[in-house]
Amino acid sequence: MNETIEKLPRFSFSDLYTYDECVFQLAEKKAKRFVEPKSEAMIVGGYIHALLEGEKATSDYIVNNYDLMVGNKGKKNEGVKVAYQRAEEVALFVKCTDVYKGYADAEKETKFAIDSGKGYVISGVVDVLKIDHENKKVEIADWKSVASFDESFNKETRTYDAWYDRAVEQLSLYAWAVKQMHPDASDYALEMKVVGFTKTFPYNMQIVEITGDMESLEMSTSVDVVLAKIDNMAYAINDETAQDYYCHACDCCAINKKFKVIQTTMM
Ligand SMILES: [Zn+2]
Repeated sequence: MNETIEKLPRFSFSDLYTYDECVFQLAEKKAKRFVEPKSEAMIVGGYIHALLEGEKATSDYIVNNYDLMVGNKGKKNEGVKVAYQRAEEVALFVKCTDVYKGYADAEKETKFAIDSGKGYVISGVVDVLKIDHENKKVEIADWKSVASFDESFNKETRTYDAWYDRAVEQLSLYAWAVKQMHPDASDYALEMKVVGFTKTFPYNMQIVEITGDMESLEMSTSVDVVLAKIDNMAYAINDETAQDYYCHACDCCAINKKFKVIQTTMM
């Protein structure tokens, strides 16, 4: 990575979530004035990802998050221990599945940082990336640990369409990033999977497959839609007035005392 890229602001797919929720929070994050506190679920989720990546990633994760993982002494510590034991059970379950075994020779947790050419960098992490030059095929997968399949993966639920659209957008962006990093694979077939698994017993797995091709990157929505959203976000955050859009409800708004003022008019 060169020095110029290092200095540019970075935007990831998950920043779009923050942007939707609270523009002020994202602006504060980018200005390094606010760091989102890691929730228990985030730490456990990160641990599961590290376990699925491999031994080195797992030991690095433990070293880097030791304080958070050990928690406080006493009763709370027991809860934390149970959460990590469960993460290990979940990872073991995933590792025994055919889909995980099929990715034995795939690259895990591929980090990307691509210069948009517009003064910012698009960054992210591809959980699984397999480039099969023999069969001219790119495979991309994203691990999603869920509490249950009620909110996602299930076509019968009312939240499914919105969830599915986001998953397609995320994976399309990853495919675009892979195309920038591997131009030799830019005319390959593309197979993308969202691999969901439950975090609690009984462990279960559901897979949503999205197919396309590297050449057009046209899935149910075009990658252009996602890139346009990121572009819009990058410009809005740069604008001074971005600071004026508060959600009034997040940790960042609370810390900065951005309380909602309700005006009442007496008749
Ligand atoms: Zn907020």
